Amino acid sequence: MIKHFATKLIAWHGKDGRQGLPWQSIRDPYAVWVSEIMLQQTQVATVLERYPRFMKRFPNVKRLAAAPVDDVLAEWAGLGYYTRARNLHACAKQVMLEFGGKFPEDPMLLEQLKGIGRSTAGAIAAFAFHERAPILDANVKRILARLFGVDGAIQEKAVNEELWSLAKTLLPKNSSDMPVYTQALMDFGATWCTSRKPVCLSGERKCPFEKECQANLSDQVLLLPRKVIKAKSPEFNCDMLLLRHGDSVLLQRRPDKAIWGGLWSLPESAWRSKEKLSKLSVSNSAAFTAKELFQLVLPDEKTASVLKSFQFIEQGVEIKHIFTHRRLWMQIWHVTSSDAVKFSSDNLKWVPLRQLGKYGLPQPIKLLLQGLSLTRGDGLRN
Ligand code: SF4
Repeated sequence: MIKHFATKLIAWHGKDGRQGLPWQSIRDPYAVWVSEIMLQQTQVATVLERYPRFMKRFPNVKRLAAAPVDDVLAEWAGLGYYTRARNLHACAKQVMLEFGGKFPEDPMLLEQLKGIGRSTAGAIAAFAFHERAPILDANVKRILARLFGVDGAIQEKAVNEELWSLAKTLLPKNSSDMPVYTQALMDFGATWCTSRKPVCLSGERKCPFEKECQANLSDQVLLLPRKVIKAKSPEFNCDMLLLRHGDSVLLQRRPDKAIWGGLWSLPESAWRSKEKLSKLSVSNSAAFTAKELFQLVLPDEKTASVLKSFQFIEQGVEIKHIFTHRRLWMQIWHVTSSDAVKFSSDNLKWVPLRQLGKYGLPQPIKLLLQGLSLTRGDGLRN
C-alpha cells in the first residue's frame, strides 16, 4: 500500500475529490496561508463566504501587516478562535520584517512563523512551493490510524510521531504532484473516510483502500483512531455590564491572552465556577446593587463617580456560550448613565452605536447588541 498510496489517492481525487473550492487553484503563499488558517476549526461553508471578503479587505501580506490589529479582529468576528486572527496579523508583520514580504519556502522556516504549526507549514509548502512536505491534521491522523491500524491514543507523543513518519513515507515521489496529493488527502478525510460515517461502513461507495485498510480488515473502523476520553467541560458564569450613555455603549478591550483575546466586549466580572455561584440580588436597593455590580466588573475603577451618574439598572438576559473546553453563562445588567464617565483604564471606551461595526466583538455580544436594536444604519453587520 505504501508504494501505491499516493497514485491511488490522486486517482481517487480526479474522480471523487472536491473540485472548484476558491482556494484550491491558488499557488500564492499568502492566499494559501490565509485559507489554511481560516479552514482550521471553521466549516467549509463559512469559509466560502468569509475567505473572499477577507482577501478583498487584506489582499496581500503588506496590507495585512500595515492594518491595525483591531481591523483584523473586526473582519474575523464571528469565525471564533480569535488567536488565529491575532497570529495572522503578527505573522504578516514577521514576514515583512524578517523575510522582506516573501513567505519562506522551507517548511521548517514556515513553522517558525507565528501561528503556523507543523501541519500548516507542510500544507503551505506543498500547495505554494510544491515541497515534499507532509501534513497531519485531524483528518489525516484518522486516515492513517485506520489504514495502518495504529491503535495508540493519538494525543500520545509517540503515536503522533509514528503518524508523522507514515505521512512522510507516503508522499508522492514527484514534487509536482504535491498540491493535488495534499488536497486529495484533505478531501478524502473530510468526505470519505469520515469520523462517523466512512464509506466502507455506509456501503454507498467503494473505498479504494478497503482491501488493505487494517481497520476495515479487522472490523475496527469506528474504534480508530483512539482518543483519550476527555473530562466534562467545566461550567462558569459571570456578570456583564451593558452601560449606555446617550447613543454610546461602554466597551472593554479584552487581554490578548484571555478567551476572545484582543476583542472588544462588555465589562465583565471574574468568572465563577457554576457550583460556587452567588448572583447579585435585584431585590436590594438599586444603589447598593449598582455599587456591587461596578465593583465586580470594574474593580480597578473608582465607583463613586460612576454611581453619581447612574440612572437605571435592570437585569437582562442570561446568555450561554459553549467554548471548546468550557461553558459560560453571562448575566447581562443594563445600566444607563447621565454622563460619559471618564475611566482611568485605556481599555475602556465609549463607542457610539453607529461605530460598533468597526470593532471586533465576540459573536454572542455582537448578537446581543444587534438583538437589542442598539445599532442602526452603518453599525454592526453580520
Ligand atoms: S476502508 Fe474505510 S476506514 Fe479504511 S480508508 Fe477506506 S473509508 Fe477509511
